[in-house]
Amino acid sequence: MVLSLERLFDSPGGEIPFEHTLDPGQFPEGGAGPFGSPVRIKGAVKNLAGVVTVEYTADYTLDTVCDRCLDPVQKPRHIRAAHVAVRALSGDGGEEDYLVLPEGELDVDEMAYSDLVLDLPGKVLCSPGCKGLCPQCGANWNHETCACTQKAVDPRLRVLERLLEEQEP
Ligand SMILES: [Zn+2]
Ligand SMILES: [Zn+2]
Repeated sequence: MVLSLERLFDSPGGEIPFEHTLDPGQFPEGGAGPFGSPVRIKGAVKNLAGVVTVEYTADYTLDTVCDRCLDPVQKPRHIRAAHVAVRALSGDGGEEDYLVLPEGELDVDEMAYSDLVLDLPGKVLCSPGCKGLCPQCGANWNHETCACTQKAVDPRLRVLERLLEEQEP
């Protein structure tokens, strides 16, 4: 969805509300997650005394896997974003703080996608107490127990062992 802000830039007090649903299939991930469901967007562009701001909320279901046990995890996510839109940068001020719209056209999908990517959590766990996977047999300790000894060899030590073996004549 593209909003034309050309007139709003020159109309202090003006406002353009918008509501939109993004199809995750249009994202580079092709709907394969982490955005596995439509993203609902709602907000407004306002001209407050000559300063044009874009404020909106986005709701979607985060579709990913647990960082520890690799089980699928789905979490509802709500984000709130705000930007200042300008037609040109006046000098100082990092570009990342502003939406620079020389043509006065705001691509809502593009803006929302970059905000969603920035907001993605670095680590997701299926539950705070996830027990993870056995490093030896790969058993998911949330669902089963395994017979492996708890004194699992550190994988880094195992690499070292292998290197030493290779050096022996
Ligand atoms: Zn987990
Ligand atoms: Zn095991």
